[in-house]
Amino acid sequence: MKKPNLKGLTAAELSEFCVALGEKEYRGRQLFTWMYEKEAPSFDRMTTFSAKFREDLESRASIESLTLVEARRSAGDGTTKLLFELSDGKRIESVLIPPKTAFKGKDAGEEEEQKRLTLCVSTQVGCPLDCSFCATATMGLLRNLTPGEIVDQVIQARAYAGKPITNVVYMGMGEPFLNYENVMKSVEIITTGLKIAAKRITVSTAGWAPMIRQMADEGRKIKLAVSLHTLDDNARTELMPINARFPLEELLDAVEYYYRKTKERVTFEYILFDGWNDTDDDLRRIVKLSRSIPSKINIIPFHDIAFANPGVKRTSLKPASAERMEEFVRRLRDEHVTVFIRSSAGEDIDAACGQLAINVERKRTSAKKPTHTARR
Ligand code: SAH
Repeated sequence: MKKPNLKGLTAAELSEFCVALGEKEYRGRQLFTWMYEKEAPSFDRMTTFSAKFREDLESRASIESLTLVEARRSAGDGTTKLLFELSDGKRIESVLIPPKTAFKGKDAGEEEEQKRLTLCVSTQVGCPLDCSFCATATMGLLRNLTPGEIVDQVIQARAYAGKPITNVVYMGMGEPFLNYENVMKSVEIITTGLKIAAKRITVSTAGWAPMIRQMADEGRKIKLAVSLHTLDDNARTELMPINARFPLEELLDAVEYYYRKTKERVTFEYILFDGWNDTDDDLRRIVKLSRSIPSKINIIPFHDIAFANPGVKRTSLKPASAERMEEFVRRLRDEHVTVFIRSSAGEDIDAACGQLAINVERKRTSAKKPTHTARR
């Protein structure tokens, strides 16, 4: 029988494991500290344990880690895409985002911003939601990640960077709310074991409304982001098939419920497409929304995804120009909407929002040549 992997177990689960082993409960707490706070990669590094206990652990359990296959660093802004292999050979990506690159312009104090190191983590291998603008969609869903595989992205990224990760965003491959339990367990370990405050953790959903309500009911302190992209129901369904299941009214009801319960402002993500969701009507709808639900709007530039599926055009949508984006934002600000433009950090290495995808071809070649040219 395969030995259980302890990475990904919470403090309570580790205590249970130790008791089942005939050990004292507090051993679980110690294991928790060794694995997550001190980041011991194996039992023999847990030097405060007796040799006998370490041997026992070795024969009864394992600590599995992701294998870092490749790290590609953007020459432009220092964003680094980490490619990991899981124990079953499947691959996922995480993105390390250095200070001052997450947003265009200021969104934090100078000093705090300098210390910020954000990791964007994946929650699934691939994704089943099939959003037409997203590279990950081309993979379909291969499987959910375990809590250990999510947590280990943070542990490994920290080791790679050589300094603490200060913020975690669940915006990599996958839909976090379709892997809710594992995601929340990873959040518990990241906050208590890796000591990253809940308010520095953001989970982003394409709009799985019932889980937004559940998260509100559970009183989670992490932040919520919702990928909105348009306030026109038909258009949204065209873009994101999930909208047929949870249309805007249901989604926004859930977000409002979330605000009422938590008093936390939600972030709406909005990719600006040229001539598609950037009209005066769209603007008016956003203003109305932000008056009814206290929220922030993140305008995201549309990143090219042609590389993920060469020869197959998934969408005819085009990015709005930088000028159009600035103008849209200015007009929203004139209406007192809180709005930021997300930077395209990492676009030159296909590490920007929505650009995470691994296809068979890329798996065979170790470094992929970018097949797209940078847009202005
Ligand atoms: N499934 C979750 C999290 C992953 S996507 C979600 O949908 O929120 C993270 C963000 O990147 C989402 O806001 C998503 O809409 C956005 N995104 C996806 N593809 C993109 C692209 N090609 N260009 C810019 N942003 C994209």
